[in-house]
Amino acid sequence: MGTENTQLQEKRFRGIGASPGIVIGRAYLLDRKKVVVATQRIEEVSVKEEVARFRKSVDVSKEQLEVLKKRIGKGLGKSHIYILDTHIMLLEDKLMVDGTVKRIKEGRLNAAGALKETIAAIGQKFDLIEDEYLRERKHDVEQVGERILRNLVGHRQESLADIKGEAVIIAHDLAPSDTIQMRKDRILGFATDVGSKTSHTAILARSLGIPAAVGLERITEEVKTGDVVIVDGIHGVVVVDPDEETFLDYLKKQRRYKYFEQELENLKSLPAETPDGYVVSLQGNIELPEEVASVADHGGTGIGLYRTEFLFMNKTTLPTEEEHYAAYLRVARAAAPHEVVIRTLDVGGDKIGIPGEFEKEANPALGLRAIRFCLQNRDIFKTQLRGIMRATIFNNVKIMFPMISGLPELHEAKKVLNEVRGELAAEGAAFDAHIKIGVMIEIPSAAMIADLLAREVDFFSVGTNDLIQYTLAIDRQNEHVAYMYEPLDPAVLRLLQRIADAAREANIPLSMCGEMAGEPLYAAILLGMGFGNLSMNIPSIPWVKKVIRSVRRQDAVELVSLVMQQPTAVRARQTVETFMQERFPELAAEL
Ligand code: PEP
Ligand code: MG
Repeated sequence: MGTENTQLQEKRFRGIGASPGIVIGRAYLLDRKKVVVATQRIEEVSVKEEVARFRKSVDVSKEQLEVLKKRIGKGLGKSHIYILDTHIMLLEDKLMVDGTVKRIKEGRLNAAGALKETIAAIGQKFDLIEDEYLRERKHDVEQVGERILRNLVGHRQESLADIKGEAVIIAHDLAPSDTIQMRKDRILGFATDVGSKTSHTAILARSLGIPAAVGLERITEEVKTGDVVIVDGIHGVVVVDPDEETFLDYLKKQRRYKYFEQELENLKSLPAETPDGYVVSLQGNIELPEEVASVADHGGTGIGLYRTEFLFMNKTTLPTEEEHYAAYLRVARAAAPHEVVIRTLDVGGDKIGIPGEFEKEANPALGLRAIRFCLQNRDIFKTQLRGIMRATIFNNVKIMFPMISGLPELHEAKKVLNEVRGELAAEGAAFDAHIKIGVMIEIPSAAMIADLLAREVDFFSVGTNDLIQYTLAIDRQNEHVAYMYEPLDPAVLRLLQRIADAAREANIPLSMCGEMAGEPLYAAILLGMGFGNLSMNIPSIPWVKKVIRSVRRQDAVELVSLVMQQPTAVRARQTVETFMQERFPELAAEL
């Protein structure tokens, strides 16, 4: 990320594409600087007053969010009210509220200083989380903290409602409560200094269809209200004061993108079927029950990966069986008649959320993670499995075990599941007696023995995020080796082919739920290899559908045999790109 000067006055900034689309318009620089407060020691006599001031600010913050919720309830963003609920819940969170009160009382700190320390301490815990989505929830904590702080110091914030006319918003950061108020006819798009693809603000922008680029570092220092700006939310680029050539180029890109977007919208209700009649099921990956509706909105059919770690987050106690059950039942009901693949807990040695359960490990990615943790913590595992089994009453739930490395682990996991089934049956509880059990193939050892595993499970789901990490020995969190993270590496492709062959021979369904499944450029290869289900981040669904509906299965099979002959990832990529360009030049230009 940084700047590149192409011409004298035009300035370009590179960040992260958070919500696709291209907008060209006048900038509006929104004041979203952080409130600066000093930490001060206070006298014993002032403690009570500071605690009362803090609690009052929490209450005011809650009232503000409730008012906003009522207003939004009637508008476009109403299906996203849960995000405001998340913030309201944080205002009731023990770590946040009691933690601050404790710091005021025991540390004799002023309310603002105590709150700042509490947020920093919670933030440190979040930093240790491996999962990007969950780690990003730190941002929600900071935004809620910022709201309380503003109320504490009486600093009114400029509102999006103050903006007259059309504008492209430029801000240091935007809270979901800002984004949710955006009117598409007024706010053309936005660009921020901070943020990531998985922040709630980005998620909201995508579902409201507002193009956005985030993580631009210092865009607010370079733009003034009234400047002409281009925001390319596909590639995360912002151009300030574009010269004529750039302007015309982006105008063309914008027209093409709008045309393409309309086409994607038209695809929503159509099946992901190739011109020669082969149907692929496209599904969504979710972390929260609230996301199910968005999968259907994007033309997906069911949930191919429900990551259940969220239930364990931000808590000082473990989730109860009832909490598991309620969450899973909600997802199963919302997704029916389509299927929901619930993945059992995938926490690792470097993740928090399970109080007192983890020791620090030297190599957490190779440590006590996922199924290994569950098999060593049977109570936690059984509680989750009971919750899942009880939520199978619509007969649309499947169970999937993560990080299976060999048969003994699979046998053990199935044994625990059978115990749970026996117990529930003895208690007279209702559940789906024919529930399908699958494994994630995300460790090279599992890929190598895919034929053995295939005889003992009902389906495979390939987790390429980890499979690539472990195959190429690249830490998926380490930005220094990120350039080597290559789905088209011949070693990865051979493993995928091997897994696909094993699934075909055993006649079991084959899915992919790693990020590779959501990349339109790879869709033809996966189709050719025989992946019948692709589960992905929700916004990718229409893009992958477009490819599937454009490529004949037979051509995809031929592409795979060509790609498999390439000695390097670069050559494999060229082969796919040429294939796409020759057949679908207008589609290839968008990928
Ligand atoms: C994967 O590893 O590809 C996967 C889908 O699981 P996660 O990203 O949650 O590890
Ligand atoms: Mg994984």
